[in-house]
Amino acid sequence: MIPLLDLKAQYRSLQAEMDAAVCAVMAEGHFILGPNVSALEAEIAAYLGVRHAVGVASGTDALIIGLRAAGVGAGDEVIVPAYTFFATAGAVLTVGAVPVIVDVDPRTYALDTAQVEARLTARTRAIVPVHLYGHPAPMEAVLALARKHHLRVVEDNAQAFGARYHGQRTASLGDVGCLSFFPTKNLGGYGDGGMVVTNDDGIAEQARMLRVHGWKRKYYPEMLGYNSRLDEIQAAVLRVKLKYVDGWNQQRRALAEVYRAGFAGSPVSVPVEEPGCEHVYHLYVVRVPQRAAVQARLKAAGIASDVYYPQPLHLTQPCRQLGGAEGDFPQAEQASRETLAIPLYPEMSSADQQQVIREVLAAVRG
Ligand SMILES: *Cc1c(COP(=O)(O)O)cnc(C)c1O
Repeated sequence: MIPLLDLKAQYRSLQAEMDAAVCAVMAEGHFILGPNVSALEAEIAAYLGVRHAVGVASGTDALIIGLRAAGVGAGDEVIVPAYTFFATAGAVLTVGAVPVIVDVDPRTYALDTAQVEARLTARTRAIVPVHLYGHPAPMEAVLALARKHHLRVVEDNAQAFGARYHGQRTASLGDVGCLSFFPTKNLGGYGDGGMVVTNDDGIAEQARMLRVHGWKRKYYPEMLGYNSRLDEIQAAVLRVKLKYVDGWNQQRRALAEVYRAGFAGSPVSVPVEEPGCEHVYHLYVVRVPQRAAVQARLKAAGIASDVYYPQPLHLTQPCRQLGGAEGDFPQAEQASRETLAIPLYPEMSSADQQQVIREVLAAVRG
C-alpha cells in the first residue's frame, strides 16, 4: 500500500535523536510549561519572524484563543472561507461569534476577497484567511480590506507551516497566526499541539493568560480562560523536527514538480502556485472527473487517496443552523465533489511516485 503520508518512515529517520529528546523530558520530570516549551516558542518566533509565540494544546485551541485574544467575542461576525477544515468555523462559533461565509477561489481554495465587502456589517470584527493545503491565501488583498474596514486578521496557518508569501512566512502577516502541530501537519508532534503567534504585545499577553485559566498571577484569574497548554514532551519532539522542516518542505515541493510534469496534458488538474507564493504541499490535492471511480481504481492498485473535504462549511450541520443551504457557494460545492488528495510526503520514493502517476492516469482515462 502506498499511503498518503508515512509517519513511521519519518520517525525511523530521527529515531536516536528523538528518543533522547523525549527521554530527557521524562528524566527531568518537568512536564507542563517548562524549558522545552519556552525554547520552542523562541525558536518558532525566530523562524516565522514574529515577536511572540504562545504554545497551546491544539490548532483548534490556537484559533479559539487567537480569536479571543484579538478581541473577537459574543455577537461579532467573522469572515471565513466556505471550503476549509471545520475547525476554522468551529472556533468562531466556540467564542460566541458568527461565521460569515464567503466562497473560495477555485484555483487556490482561498477565500475570494472580491466577495468580502458585500458580506460586511457593523458587527464584522475579523477575517480568517486559511492557507489551505499549504498554499498562501491572498494576504495583500485581505490586509487591505482589514485596514479599510478596521478588521482583525487571524490567519489559520494549520496547513502551511513554512510557506512564504512574497518572502514572509505565513502566520506572520496578520494580527494573529494560528498553528497546529497535529501529527500529520508539516510540523507535527506525537500528539495534539498548537501555537498562537503575533507581533502585538497585548494580544500575546491575552493569549498567555487565556491558556492558563485567565490569570497572570497564579490562582488569581482576571477572566475566564482555559486549560490549554502545549506539553513538554510535544515541545521536545517539535524542537527536533523544526530543524528538518525546511528540508521536508523542499522535498514536498520537488515531489509536487514531478507530479506536475507527470500529469501534464491529462484530465488531472494539478494545484497552482500563485506569483509570490511558496506552496508547502501539506496535501497534494488534484481535481479529477468521476472521482469515486478514480478512488476505487487507486484503492484496488494499493494506493491511498482521500477527500479533503467532502462537505463545504455552509452545509455542515452547525452552519446549516445559521441558514446555510445547497447552492449558496458553488465553487466550494464543486470543489467538495471533485478534489482528491493523493500520496505526497517527504520520504516518498521515486518508484512509488511513478506508480501513483501511472495508476492515476490509467484511472482517469478509464
Ligand atoms: C488541522 C487544522 C485545524 C485544527 O488543528 P488541530 O490541531 O487538529 O486542532 C484548523 N484548521 C485547519 C485548516 C486545519 O487543517
